[in-house]
Parts: sequence; structure tokens; C-alpha cells
Amino acid sequence: MNKTKIVATIGPASQDKQILKQMILAGLDVIRINMSYADYDFCDDVITKLNQLNEELNTNVAIMMDLNGPTIVVNQLKKKTVELKEGQIVEVYTDERVGDETFFSISYQSLVQELKYNSHLILGDNEVVLKIVDKGEDVLTCMVEKSGVLKAGMKVISPDCKLNLHFLTEKDKQDIVYAHEHQIDFLALSFVHSSEDVLEVNDLLIQLNDNRISILTKIETEEAVEEIDEIIRVSDGILIARGDLGVSLPVERVPGIQKMIIHKCHNEGKVSLVATEFLASMENSNHPTRAEVSDVANAVLDGVDAVILSGETTVGKYPIEVLTMMEKIIETAEKDIPYYELLDSAMRTEEEGITGSIAYSVATCANRLRCVAIVTPTVTGYTARRISRFRPSCPIVTLSSDEAVIKQLSLCFGVYGVKISEFTSFDKMMKQSISSLKEFMDTKEHDKVIITGGYPFHEVKHTNFMRIEEL
Ligand code: PEP
Repeated sequence: MNKTKIVATIGPASQDKQILKQMILAGLDVIRINMSYADYDFCDDVITKLNQLNEELNTNVAIMMDLNGPTIVVNQLKKKTVELKEGQIVEVYTDERVGDETFFSISYQSLVQELKYNSHLILGDNEVVLKIVDKGEDVLTCMVEKSGVLKAGMKVISPDCKLNLHFLTEKDKQDIVYAHEHQIDFLALSFVHSSEDVLEVNDLLIQLNDNRISILTKIETEEAVEEIDEIIRVSDGILIARGDLGVSLPVERVPGIQKMIIHKCHNEGKVSLVATEFLASMENSNHPTRAEVSDVANAVLDGVDAVILSGETTVGKYPIEVLTMMEKIIETAEKDIPYYELLDSAMRTEEEGITGSIAYSVATCANRLRCVAIVTPTVTGYTARRISRFRPSCPIVTLSSDEAVIKQLSLCFGVYGVKISEFTSFDKMMKQSISSLKEFMDTKEHDKVIITGGYPFHEVKHTNFMRIEEL
């Protein structure tokens, strides 16, 4: 049973119900739907299948909707692909004209006014780089600095100029309404530049009266890296989107930024996720490279909450084998997690308060006594979240009657949700905690367990007890 969670993006390679089922059995915790590619028919289909599988397998796999964000893309081309060669001149327009080898248009009207001479446009995943050498009233004249293949729909990034794109697009707003109506658990926000962007989504969720969805902010621009502390403060979690981040700024900076953000999230008690190319070679091979294995293991050793699979499970040939491999790498890496160091660094930033103090004591006792589990009966998931932050070395089994709460916890390191009916007394809660734990995992006589929470439920707003039981 791994503590680091696995998120898999669903696409043509994993949309089939039987494949999805095998992925869940192999260790999948959360599915991700990428709204840059998915339409509502696709979402309906995947959500229906997942709900059926959760019922059939008695699992609580949650759903993340990854919004498209305020992106600029290449408009239609006369041919499917167009080759651009280093040194050639190409014109870029902002109307809808259909492009060829000498010109094309893009989807952002103010681009000509906002970009400066000598700044760059990066197309796709760094596939083509253009330098602006002249500007007309409605056209940019560019020189190709890096040859490559141009395709309609490719993302366009201008790393040297801050554009005035409004963050929340009409499409994203519609997608958020869809997410609300379909009880999606997590929203991932793309191309966030500031904490105000996150607050704009938060306001929309308040207007929708939605207190279920958690906001995960994707870090994929230089501005977001610069404003990271404030962004962490207003988000429920941070997703380090290494793909676009490695296009917006030099790719060699990405590993340092990844480590810095995981560390900050841990200190602030927010979940951290890392995405993109973990096991990329497994799109076409049933074995990862040594470097990929090391990449996954290092994220785990740094204390990340969840790792995300993208192309490997959307278009790859081996979606089930990828899950199995990811699970194996995590299981082995978790044996070397510096649990005491993580506990100590979380303690240093813990605010004074009853819940934090109990959570710290629970994690410390669990490690010292080699407890097999921490059990937390919960209404909101608050206790489990606070304990997860201290990274105890045993699982945190969370009992709740609310499926939404259980799913919300599915990205938290070491937390596993079990659905129960509401308790009517403290004694019943203690008995049920032990019986639910025994159903959830194998235990032996004399195993030690910590039960912790806040009681009476709905009355106390903090954790107020911990009890150590020997089975
Ligand atoms: C990324 O850029 O790494 C990422 C996860 O975002 P997307 O898949 O939307 O490009």
C-alpha cells in the first residue's frame, strides 16, 4: 500500500472500462481529464465508467479536471503540417487566415501590439522558435531560430513578454460549471500568473455555492514561480507542470523549482503534485529507462504527495504496465523516505494550536512505537490532512460517512479513506475504528494503532483526542 498517490490522465489508451479497471487495481488514486483535448461527451463517458467501477470495486478514485487556461494557439493551416526552416522568414497574423509555409495566424488579437522587437515566440513543446524582426499594423515578421514542424492547435508562448491575456476564459468558466454539476473533486488551473487568478476561480466556485472542489494551481510560468508563496497560500495544492514550465523558462531550471515547491508545500501543509514525462519511454516500451525510475524515486524521496502520468496513459501502448511500474518504484523508494527529517521540518513551520500539536504527537508516537496505522474518524478530513503533513511512516486510515470528503483526501500523502455510517457515541467510534481498520488491512495481535480525532463531531472544530491501542 503506497503512500505517494498516482494520478493518471485518461485518453484513448485508457478510456476503455476494462483498462481503467486494471489501472485502478494496479494502484490508481485519481484520474485526470485534460480539457485541452476532452469534450463533454468524453467527460460524461469517463465519469460514468469511473462511478460504475468505484461501486463495483468499492474504491474511491477521485476526478481532477485540468482546465485549458488562457492559451494562444496556431490557427488552421492549408496542410496538416508545415515545415519551417532555420533562417527563413514567416509572417504571423492575428486574424483567422489559413496558413502555409510563409505565413500563419494565431488566436490572440493583441499579440502584435503587445510583443516587442527581438522577443521570441515558442511553438508547441519547444518544437519551433521564432524571433520577431519586424512589426506591421496587423502582422509580426519573424525569423525562424529553431526549425521544426508547425501544426494547427500548437500552443504559442512568449517567454520574454508579459501578455495581457485575461485569465478566466469563457471555455474555462463553462468547464467549471460542468465540474460543479458533475461533482468533480479537483480543478487544476493552467497558466496561472498570479494569486489573483486563483482567487478569480475561487470567487466563481463561491458563486456556484460549491464547497467540494479543491483548487490545484499549475506552475508553468516564470511569473507564477516568482509569486509562489502567495499562490501556495491561496491554493489547496500545487501542480508542478514540468512540460509547459520547461518551455516558459530554461528546462535546466525545472528540477530546482520542483524541489523548492515540494518543500514549500510541505511546510505550508498544502499538497504537491509533479507532472509530465515520468515514464515517457513507456509510451512505446514496456520498460522504463534508469533515468525515469530515478526521476520518480527522487520526487518520492523529496516528499511529494502525488505523481501524474500523462502521455503514458492517454496515448501510450502500456497504460496498465505503467501503473504497475509506477507503483513498484514508489513502494521501493518509500522505504528510504527520511520520515524524521520531514516530520521535523513540518514542525518548524507548524502554527501553535491544539490540532497541530496533537497531529505532531500522533506522527511522532506512530513512528517511535512502529504503529501499523493511524485511524482518524472525521467529518471534514481536517485531522487527516494535518497528520499527513507530518509524514508518519504508517498509513492514515480515515473513516468518514461523506464520500466527497474521502475523495478530497485522495491526493494526501499516506491517507486512505474508508466509508462508514455516522457514529452515535465515543465508545462506538472506538470500536468501529478498530473493526474498520481490520477490514481495511491485515493486522496482527499486539500491533499498535493510534486513534485520533475531534469529538463530539460537529461540535468541536479541532482535534482533541489521541488514544494508543494494542490489538
Ligand atoms: C504540463 O505542462 O506539464 C502539464 C501537466 O500541462 P498540460 O498537460 O496541460 O500541458
